[in-house]
Amino acid sequence: MKRGEEGLLPLFDALAFSADRHRLQRRKGAAASPYINHPIEVARVLVHEGGVRDLGVLIAAVLHDTIEDTATTGEEIAERFGPDIARLVLEVTDDKSTPAAERKRRQVEHATALSPRARLVRLADKICNVRDMVADPPHGWSVERRRDYLDWTERVIAGCRGSNAGLESAYDQALLAARQVLTAAP
Ligand code: ZN
Repeated sequence: MKRGEEGLLPLFDALAFSADRHRLQRRKGAAASPYINHPIEVARVLVHEGGVRDLGVLIAAVLHDTIEDTATTGEEIAERFGPDIARLVLEVTDDKSTPAAERKRRQVEHATALSPRARLVRLADKICNVRDMVADPPHGWSVERRRDYLDWTERVIAGCRGSNAGLESAYDQALLAARQVLTAAP
């Protein structure tokens, strides 16, 4: 194996692991696409729009919702993928035992405290979620609720700025486009 290729093995392990953990889940949109499409898209955005080549960040992106949304634990991630990856995934994991409004408030508050690598995952995640608000919005969400969601992501991303110009401009464009669509909506 050529130097620098070592990370490819855990990256593909992470894809298989994440696909297995999310296997019974669907996205909230009307299309109900398989959940795994989302972490794959987050990693794709990091590579293509952020120019990210840090395989640890890409592995964390693939795994970023496994602790929050499946029975996976941080210890399990640490055992399989190492403590660095586990820390990174935990940084972008909300505490599901707290009420949703509190979790949202904490994401805004903690954004500035995220490590530089966790900020990249957060940025790409929000880019995908903002795009989904237009392309395949969560089933039953009113236009107002979707607008509130966009406003909230803007507050989170404000704390992640100065990390990656490509991702930040992709986020800004996604936000602008989503707002235009939702402003025109009845
Ligand atoms: Zn996500």
